[in-house]
Amino acid sequence: MNTELTRQDAVREAAASGIPAALADLGALVRIPSVAFPGFDTAQVQRSAEAVAALVEGLGLFENVEIRRAAIPDSDEIGQPAVLATRAARNGRPTILLYAHHDVQPVGDEALWESTPFEPTVRDGRLYGRGAADDKAGVMAHVGALRALKEALGEDFDLGVALFIEGEEEAGSRSFAQFLSDNADALRADVIVVADSGNWDARTPALTVSLRGNTRFTLRVRTLEHASHSGMFGGAVPDAMMATVKLLATLWDEDGTVAVAGLTERDAETPAYSEETLRDESGLPAGVSPIGSGTILSRIWNKPSITVTGIDAPSVVHASNTLSPEISVVISARIAPGQPAREAYAAIEAHLRAHAPFGAELAFTDQDYGDAFLVDTSGWAVDTALKAMHEAYGVEPVQIGVGGSIPFIADLVREFPAAQILVTGVEDPHARAHSPNESLHLETFRNAVVAEALLLEKLDARGGTA
Ligand SMILES: [Zn+2]
Repeated sequence: MNTELTRQDAVREAAASGIPAALADLGALVRIPSVAFPGFDTAQVQRSAEAVAALVEGLGLFENVEIRRAAIPDSDEIGQPAVLATRAARNGRPTILLYAHHDVQPVGDEALWESTPFEPTVRDGRLYGRGAADDKAGVMAHVGALRALKEALGEDFDLGVALFIEGEEEAGSRSFAQFLSDNADALRADVIVVADSGNWDARTPALTVSLRGNTRFTLRVRTLEHASHSGMFGGAVPDAMMATVKLLATLWDEDGTVAVAGLTERDAETPAYSEETLRDESGLPAGVSPIGSGTILSRIWNKPSITVTGIDAPSVVHASNTLSPEISVVISARIAPGQPAREAYAAIEAHLRAHAPFGAELAFTDQDYGDAFLVDTSGWAVDTALKAMHEAYGVEPVQIGVGGSIPFIADLVREFPAAQILVTGVEDPHARAHSPNESLHLETFRNAVVAEALLLEKLDARGGTA
């Protein structure tokens, strides 16, 4: 008898048959509105941490399960509650750290939701609700995989496991680095699984091997000491809106490519991805053209992008015939893997200063930086993870880049430089994380749980620490 095959089959079977229970637990987590943003009820984040801790405790696998918080550096505040659980490796087996987060994005305009955001609802093979995908499904992928391992292998498994379920990822992970250093011994692992990303599509698994960095800041443009009648001085003095529009327009070329000197691109192959798929997944109407140049995925994964995400200016309803003295905008940029976030920010600030029309006065505040990430794909854990995904989904996995950013990964790399980091996830391109009608594709979830359970089994079968 091939015992390895038997173990794998038993784990796969247990993972698949545990899906209904995992979905029921996921539904209960979705009902808790655990938004960690300032101004929201943090008692709900505590409730959510307690619910996660109870699920983890219920696994009966860990020597220690705790809810912990860490201080936010340079402030007198304390971070939101995270769940930390540990089980020591035995017989020279490796240790794996499983990360996900239990806090969620605010719901935004509730009128745009087709079902109540915090009421889990199944429609057309998807589970709808805030956090149903990002990232409570990531939490349940870990729990489901560990349940399967316990059910299939009982006491016969020696893998070390640490579980870290953060409570403030969407709110900027402000105590994350402190949490890592406070709990470094508990969290130290050979392999780290960050289950907070996406898959190629609803049927094809993906391992995320690059992430863009980001920087975000507020720019104030001032051209006048006070507002004036637009008929009195219009045409002779520049208003701040005119200066802002002209200045912002210099950020992009005619075709929408970022036109800021000093921002770099990464030269790497990208898989084929059609304009039709782009239109479908992003909601781009037939008459509106895409922007940028090069392959579509190189534009999203390997080149910078700049977006104006907010503006403070007189509103339409309050518009009067006035020259505005001052306008503020928020600029959010994505940075190609390979370029440090602070370097990219400096290039953008220098560009804006050099292009300020009519000598407009510029002020830069509230800078925020997140570094990009590139996985070293030569490690044994990457191979093992790709194998597990292939077996679970029955489809060859794709190694993907992601246009978004997970800034805390830089903290993980800094604290645990020797660990191999695997960025996985339960989302598919239609998950609409952060947006109204967020949802989880149920078949993807099932496959993701099976894949993670198979990965754990393979690591446990792996003999000594490499
Ligand atoms: Zn997330």
